[in-house]
Amino acid sequence: MSPRPLGSGLDALERDIVGCRRCPRLVAWREEVGRVKRRAFADQDYWARPVPGFGDPDPWLVIVGLAPAAHGANRTGRIFTGDRSGDVLFAALHRAGLASRPTATHRDDGLRLIGCRVAAAVRCAPPANRPTPEERARCRPYLVRELALCPNARVLLALGAVGWDATLRALDAPRPWPRFGHGAQAPLGERRLVGSYHPSQQNVFTGRLTPAMLDDVLAQAAALRREGFPTST
Ligand code: SF4
Repeated sequence: MSPRPLGSGLDALERDIVGCRRCPRLVAWREEVGRVKRRAFADQDYWARPVPGFGDPDPWLVIVGLAPAAHGANRTGRIFTGDRSGDVLFAALHRAGLASRPTATHRDDGLRLIGCRVAAAVRCAPPANRPTPEERARCRPYLVRELALCPNARVLLALGAVGWDATLRALDAPRPWPRFGHGAQAPLGERRLVGSYHPSQQNVFTGRLTPAMLDDVLAQAAALRREGFPTST
């Protein structure tokens, strides 16, 4: 794999993402949510901008989620921070030794990710958590750049079908693509993509995704890193 990337590349990417206004519908939505706010957070200043990736600048694992939550990352400015999905995800990362603490409440809470980085298919909070295909395509170059800046990330973990699709497209994966599923894998040359159900409130509430299932896919990712995998495709 390539040598360790320069942190300046990720810094420039972060600046580009945070300043982006390419999707009129999402710009309007993220800013309106930040103005109206949820009553429980009425005394807080919402971030209301695109949310860049977060974590280790030279990870072995990159996790690709869907998009910032309106009152989660769109409020706090850090991906998966301040919402129920993040509560589930960061607790699992902590159990796996990939996070310094099990909770993520705000940008300055001291959380560090260890060997792991979290990104998203779309960097602005979308209405109803549903970005359009055009918005997904417009935002994809940021994921392309982020993955290119993480050359030692040989294992990628997609949270949900949108993250799965975004990662395959970002890496220009040869077709046919394996179907998304919990524990599914897709070979990507020197990388390997693993699928996980998204830790959304609905998936967790209905039991579609349990903490043990999330632990299992993180263990699967760690085993791929430890034991390797064929790199023919
Ligand atoms: S979704 Fe992505 S491309 Fe669209 S405005 Fe936000 S950061 Fe820019």
